Amino acid sequence: MPEGHTIHALAGRVQDAFAGTPVRFSSPQGRFAESAAALDGACVESAEAHGKHLAIHVEGEQVVHVHLGLFGRFGVRQHRRVDRGEPPTDLPVAGQVRMRMVNRTHVGDLRGPIVCELVTPTEWREVRAGLGADPLRDDRLPDAVRDRLARTRRAIGAVLMDQSLVAGVGNVYRAELLHRHELDPHTPARDVPAGVVTAIWDDLVRLMPLGVRTGRILVSDSDVERAEALIAKGGTGRVRPHYAVYRRHGKPCPRCGETVVKETMAGRNLFRCPGCQR
Ligand SMILES: [Zn+2]
Repeated sequence: MPEGHTIHALAGRVQDAFAGTPVRFSSPQGRFAESAAALDGACVESAEAHGKHLAIHVEGEQVVHVHLGLFGRFGVRQHRRVDRGEPPTDLPVAGQVRMRMVNRTHVGDLRGPIVCELVTPTEWREVRAGLGADPLRDDRLPDAVRDRLARTRRAIGAVLMDQSLVAGVGNVYRAELLHRHELDPHTPARDVPAGVVTAIWDDLVRLMPLGVRTGRILVSDSDVERAEALIAKGGTGRVRPHYAVYRRHGKPCPRCGETVVKETMAGRNLFRCPGCQR
């Protein structure tokens, strides 16, 4: 499952490629054909992400709402037909392309999403209202979310992955941040001190933009410092990530030496150190 930072990066690529230009929409596979016909030729205004949801705003009060799910892919690339005045309509299609966007310079092919629908701006606002706080949009943890965390008996490890509370946080950030703050993922959210909740949120606000920028989930201080130093020198910052617990079950915890374990929580693999996450 792509984490929220990959969808924000995708929104940036769609925005850079298509915003402000007329776009040919089509559905080579056919399942989005009617909506594509309604959109075809209209100007794309902007693209944005909220959590793992992507919205492409198109002139005429139209919004394409996309959720990639586990297997969806949205590839955006430059095509080689830059010399033509009109967007080319005969670019080859590979595989099951639900929605294709083409302008004079770029082609975007969406394959295998769990959601690809044409909605109104009001309907998109309703989708957003059902999503939780997004560390890539909200610098401060909204009070409404903080209040819900302070009341719920559910495990902090499950709550962090609940898209209606916190949008866009995936398995890697969950595992690593709970380890960093020495929290047992099974701790009821209401028992986590407010200061620790704030610290986790501040980490997400600081780390997820670096994930958008580098395409890597970087959490450890040394990885972050190396990436930031490379970016400062004009590089991509794509360092190889080092994790303390994520996918390190059976190996010793770098902090306390106890063996990292893998279990299942809310249907996803959960990695934790039984030694220092209590
Ligand atoms: Zn440990």
